[in-house]
Amino acid sequence: MGLILAVAVPGPFRSPLDYLPAPGATPPAIGTRVKVPLGRRTVVGVVLGLNSDSRLDPAKLRPIIDSLDASPILDADILELARWAADYYHHPIGEVIARCLPTRHRRPDATTSRRVRAWQITAAGLACDLAQFERAPAKARALQHLRAASTAVTAAQLTALGIRSGILKQLEALDLVASKTEVVPDGLPATGEALALNPGQTEAVAAIIEGLDNFGVYLLDGVTGSGKTEVYLQTMATALAAGRQVLMLVPEIGLTPQAEERLRQRFGEAVATLHSGMSDVARLRAFDRVRQGGARVLIGTRSAIFTPMPELGLIVVDEEHDESYKQQDGLRYSARDLALIRARNRNVAVVLGSATPSLESLHNARSGRYRHLHLPSRAGNAVPPTLRLIDLRRYPAAEGFSEPLQQAMAETLAAGNQVLVFLNRRGFAPVLRCSDCGWIADCPRCDARMTVHSRPGGLRCHHCGTARPLPPRCPDCGAPEPMPVGHGTQRTEAVLKQRFPGLPVVRIDRDSTASQHALAAALERIQTGAPAILVGTQMLAKGHHFPAVTLVAVLDADGGLFSADFRGSERLAQQVLQVAGRAGRAERPGQVLIQTLQPEHPFWPPILDQNYQAFALPALAERAETGLPPCAHLALLRAEAPARDATWAFLEAAAGRLAAAEHSVAVLGPIPALRERLAGRYRAQLLLQSSERSSLHALLRQRLPELDALPQSRRVRWSLDVDPIDLY
Ligand code: ADP
Ligand code: ZN
Ligand code: ZN
Repeated sequence: MGLILAVAVPGPFRSPLDYLPAPGATPPAIGTRVKVPLGRRTVVGVVLGLNSDSRLDPAKLRPIIDSLDASPILDADILELARWAADYYHHPIGEVIARCLPTRHRRPDATTSRRVRAWQITAAGLACDLAQFERAPAKARALQHLRAASTAVTAAQLTALGIRSGILKQLEALDLVASKTEVVPDGLPATGEALALNPGQTEAVAAIIEGLDNFGVYLLDGVTGSGKTEVYLQTMATALAAGRQVLMLVPEIGLTPQAEERLRQRFGEAVATLHSGMSDVARLRAFDRVRQGGARVLIGTRSAIFTPMPELGLIVVDEEHDESYKQQDGLRYSARDLALIRARNRNVAVVLGSATPSLESLHNARSGRYRHLHLPSRAGNAVPPTLRLIDLRRYPAAEGFSEPLQQAMAETLAAGNQVLVFLNRRGFAPVLRCSDCGWIADCPRCDARMTVHSRPGGLRCHHCGTARPLPPRCPDCGAPEPMPVGHGTQRTEAVLKQRFPGLPVVRIDRDSTASQHALAAALERIQTGAPAILVGTQMLAKGHHFPAVTLVAVLDADGGLFSADFRGSERLAQQVLQVAGRAGRAERPGQVLIQTLQPEHPFWPPILDQNYQAFALPALAERAETGLPPCAHLALLRAEAPARDATWAFLEAAAGRLAAAEHSVAVLGPIPALRERLAGRYRAQLLLQSSERSSLHALLRQRLPELDALPQSRRVRWSLDVDPIDLY
């Protein structure tokens, strides 16, 4: 019997599908893309294995249509990571593999030429006067593009930009551009200077460097402003000098352009970036530069974890506690956890950095699995901020601001400093209410209230996106003009503009920063250091360095104190300490004022002391007592359908299959989701809980195929979330 190809194709298949090689062609290599027939469609798959037999009748196997790559596009490292993720998250392998490829590489028409041809500018091309191509704009554009590029650009990428090979050949004949068949690594210009490390940083850098050539996890637990970035940069420099590549994951790059900027200052053109705000072409280019070794440092958001890096020598996960590392649909992976798996597979070090580590990571550090490195004080001359509560019962808020807070703001601004106002609620007001009859605007499709927005005005549901105009009268009793109740960031911005006329008020939330450009402009204004007020959601808490901010105000902390979710207090502690960490990061000392109706709540004392450990250790003990992560392992089976009974019928049948006596796994539910109706569908869930990770996974591996086959599964959408970050 001949060769059989195991191909990962997109679709709900729990294993690769078998195909025959194309007749007469050289069989494709493992890790290359192939075009294959699937039913009546043609799809792109990746070859995962070359076997000599098949579980199916070989006479029924179909041949592949075409090979798309001359050499593997995904290396053994990524294939191993993808297999691990498919197994651990119990997700179809083809869907996992598809995630590893930039969108452009997933299309059946995306053939790369067999010899990878690339073009670059010549010395004559750099020197020539573009004016001579005034009447040949295509040539001018090609030259301009290659002049701006730091490396050779593949023909496929140029074609994608609309620059045809005919034009390039004409320019080649004039000696202005040259073609070559492989891409060379970029140089590593040494720019930007390393800072002299303080003793804490020195120790941390030494510990990581010593372990660079082996798998090891370093939890860099350093207070805000302690100079974690400098520790990353200097360890990276060592790895780079040894000829290795470095991967740095960040929560959301658009929010922290500073991190990227600092990498570029230090490592110049060797840095590539990957995040969801980039165009498909730009992503493809970055992916290829890194994969071919041209770029030495990759900074990216969670999906960057799947980028092939032939010489990977170090992984850094900045702000490791951040929830954006967890994908919340489809393949629900944690990029932080995959970083650990990848580092272990590659036998390299991984650094997890945070001022407020996740309880998971703290637990692992305390049990000795991670090396715990501390940076207890701020770098340079900055001192820690002081935190104080304002009792809203004693000092009631008017339009969101209590008297002592208003006073502190006025003083701060008069002294020439900046104020940051934190409010985790976007929009104008969270509720629209009729003051006559008490009617409230609910979302017609969800168990949720609609949020009032101004500019553009209207009601919007933050859960399903439904938008409605503001009703001029109450739909129940007809009374005019229902009232917005409560404060969101837009209303707070309006209030502040009125109270502090003439001062710039900059709002930063998902609505104000729909474009990267708007965010960059807003951040630039803050960086000038002139007196200003920033208002924003947790987007503001993430890693920013605002030297002139000396007062941080937390308008309403109480929501988090009474959260329904088991991670509510952890999330609140992280948010408050992170946003507090934006105060007084330079020479001027900072203060943080937190408004609450619950100043006596036991949550506060460790937070006011900025003693995250004192918060975290009791929280960990509580998780152990209640059997919650990291002291137990969870998986959540979610289902939803337009009809409530379809959801329940499936989950009850599933519970029957999963509740097996031989496993030490508790099956809890089904119970309705916290918001049972969302976007017109009824949602419910089953929670699986076990103190043994392996028993949980053994059970899932054994029973999920049975759930696939349940007749009740056809009427619902269902998904499995391994290590869920919230339970609703
Ligand atoms: P973190 O990431 O821990 O919040 P950063 O890395 O942003 O902190 O550092 C905070 C500030 O301290 C930055 O302005 C940085 O340039 C400065 N800094 C870091 N290390 C040193 C050092 N060794 N000496 C002087 N300044 C430093
Ligand atoms: Zn009414
Ligand atoms: Zn809705």
